[in-house]
Amino acid sequence: METKENVVVSLPLMEDFYTIQGEGFYQGSAAYFIRLGGCDVGCVWCDVKESWDASAHPLVSVGEMARRAKDSGAQIVVVTGGEPVMYDLAALTDTLKAAGLRTHLETSGAYPITGTWDWICFSPKKFKVPDDSVLTKADELKVIVYNKSDFVWGEEFASRVNNKCHLFLQPEWSKEKEVLPFIIEYVKSNPKWQVSLQVHKYMNIP
Ligand code: SF4
Repeated sequence: METKENVVVSLPLMEDFYTIQGEGFYQGSAAYFIRLGGCDVGCVWCDVKESWDASAHPLVSVGEMARRAKDSGAQIVVVTGGEPVMYDLAALTDTLKAAGLRTHLETSGAYPITGTWDWICFSPKKFKVPDDSVLTKADELKVIVYNKSDFVWGEEFASRVNNKCHLFLQPEWSKEKEVLPFIIEYVKSNPKWQVSLQVHKYMNIP
């Protein structure tokens, strides 16, 4: 992270690319992904462990990230990680918005949220208790189901998020065959939830 007069002007960038959002409410929509490096949450099943060490990723200016996103033709930018809320994201979202882009965040809520967001996907993780402030701000709650006990755990958050928040249950990818039948039955019995699948993996795109 690099700052100028206390404003974060560059952030560790693991990768950025234009693709299709594969998960949750915006599933199927074109989106430019900015994956920031750095995460201290430590999920055992994490499929982007190479993101954890922020120092392994180059610092890139928020202006450069916004330029690349704009040049791609995207309308939506998804900021993900790693855990993006480890950083002050105000300058990044200001720059993206100045470029006319929609700002979407994917976070475990491990820290208070900074920045201006058009959409916040809150995906809590058992490995680090989320900051309460994310519960009122979340547009979407995405619970990753690794085993059956995650339904009870997910309900705990569903009862605490704001009443406009969309609720999704998504199988952890390596357990999909095992847990998907349980998710289907759970959603049929508890229709406030919806099923989310990682459809980008079926399309063989990032
Ligand atoms: S919060 Fe995300 S990036 Fe961090 S360990 Fe968990 S799954 Fe991996």
